[in-house]
Amino acid sequence: MEILSDITEMQRRCLALREAGKRIAFVPTMGYLHAGHLSLLHEGRRRGDVLVLSIFVNPTQFGEGEDLDSYPRDFERDEVLAREVGVDLIFYPHVEDIYPPGYCSYLSVEGDLTATLEGACRPGHFRGVATVVSKLFNIVQPHQALFGRKDFQQLATIEQMIRDFNFPVEIVGMPIVREPDGLAMSSRNVYLSDDERRQSLALNQSLTLAAELAREGESNAHKILEVALKRLTAEPDLVIDYVKICNADTLEDVETVDQRSVMLLAVKVGTTRLIDNSFLIGQI
Ligand code: AMP
Repeated sequence: MEILSDITEMQRRCLALREAGKRIAFVPTMGYLHAGHLSLLHEGRRRGDVLVLSIFVNPTQFGEGEDLDSYPRDFERDEVLAREVGVDLIFYPHVEDIYPPGYCSYLSVEGDLTATLEGACRPGHFRGVATVVSKLFNIVQPHQALFGRKDFQQLATIEQMIRDFNFPVEIVGMPIVREPDGLAMSSRNVYLSDDERRQSLALNQSLTLAAELAREGESNAHKILEVALKRLTAEPDLVIDYVKICNADTLEDVETVDQRSVMLLAVKVGTTRLIDNSFLIGQI
């Protein structure tokens, strides 16, 4: 396994691999790896001749007052995990190389898809995500790139960007990996105190209750949302950013639940912001 920080060197290496006929599978991350990231890497290992992992805490996707400075980082631990899973190349660039002085180009996916949910709560977030992912694609030149459905709207935004900008990259969406008690794995879970960690179980539990109700035949989205809200508000320290039932393709709110309906939520637990989602009846 090799670790490269230099952008030109990384791009040159990846272009040479492509020319040699190697298929490049790519997993972009912000590091502090957990089992969710590892599931993407395992699948990438299976799909690609060469497996590339990027680790970059991307400042342009963090808003004012968000956790950019405190975001957990542990490169040495990530390196061990990456080696175990069979990563060939880690791309670990410096912020000042990705965004040098005078940097001024951004890629923005516009419209309803990015205006709602995370886009409404975190203005500029998807502009930062789309910009860094497009830069990483230009550097790594992957055939396939793997993303988790934990960040459901991010995956939809990247798929839109791929279509709109004709990137020759196949996007692979991967299932959410959870802790044994149901909490979706996230690098941010380390911020949680024991009590906050316990209260955070309400996220997955409200999704499960909602899915049970939908599968029993309830199709009124408002009634299903009420049940989810009741579970979330039973915890004293949860502050809800949003709980919505949306069409999985457009992310528009739905009134009547069907196979394409997904419930998405974002909740603050103390100072930690967590997101989760689940299809209610159908899958993927
Ligand atoms: P991050 O490092 O948080 O930017 O995440 C990097 C990639 O891992 C993204 O595609 C995420 O959607 C994915 N990911 C993060 N958490 C999970 C999880 N619990 N299950 C599956 N994929 C995840």
